[in-house]
Amino acid sequence: MKTIGLIGGMSWESSIEYYRIINETAKTKLGGLHSAKTIMYSVDFAEIEPLQNQARWEEAAQLMVAAGQSLERAGAGFVVLCTNTMHKLADELQRNIRIPLLHIADATAQKIKAAGLRKIGLLGTRFTMEQDFYKGRLMDNYDLEVLTPDSGECETIHRVIYDELCQGIVKQESRDQYLTIMEKLVQAGAQGIILGCTEIELMVHDGDSPVPLFPTAKIHAIAAVEYALA
Ligand code: GLU
Repeated sequence: MKTIGLIGGMSWESSIEYYRIINETAKTKLGGLHSAKTIMYSVDFAEIEPLQNQARWEEAAQLMVAAGQSLERAGAGFVVLCTNTMHKLADELQRNIRIPLLHIADATAQKIKAAGLRKIGLLGTRFTMEQDFYKGRLMDNYDLEVLTPDSGECETIHRVIYDELCQGIVKQESRDQYLTIMEKLVQAGAQGIILGCTEIELMVHDGDSPVPLFPTAKIHAIAAVEYALA
């Protein structure tokens, strides 16, 4: 089994889910007392969020590279970056480490393709929904058509992530807002919806939509175990 190197803390509310799902998956696959070999480098998200918000991506990249290199030195076989948004810096991170980075959008796209879907809704931070690093990868590498909410709705989705979910707050009112936005994506033709922020699955679950949901933390965590055992 390869040792899984996790870059977490963005936020820890979802990193803890990665840790749980990774170990549950290892136990299911291997049985008995088995658990996964992991090393987590967990950042202080209060130092990261202003860099995102002020578009200081170069500084954010330096922090991600330092975390990745530290996991490499500690003996990780590959890196799992436990956030969709920070995959904006995936290429720079990968260029500066020798071990592979298991990309969250690839793991998710493979699930969508396996389900036979092509037109897909995407929820996440406004960086993930509006910029090309994530949507572009889904479209160019996997031939998916990606639908995102309108700009007012993106603002709501984004605000709830930072002001509530990343702080461990789950409100019924916000959940209802998400479900309404998801319903509009389905009406616009989405055959499935990517929960493209690792905290959304703390609030929205399977069965909350008539179409299949793709919870990225869960998908990424399971893919990490499969890769560790491959
Ligand atoms: N965990 C989130 C994501 O998957 C948002 C926090 C962050 O900006 O990293 O995008």
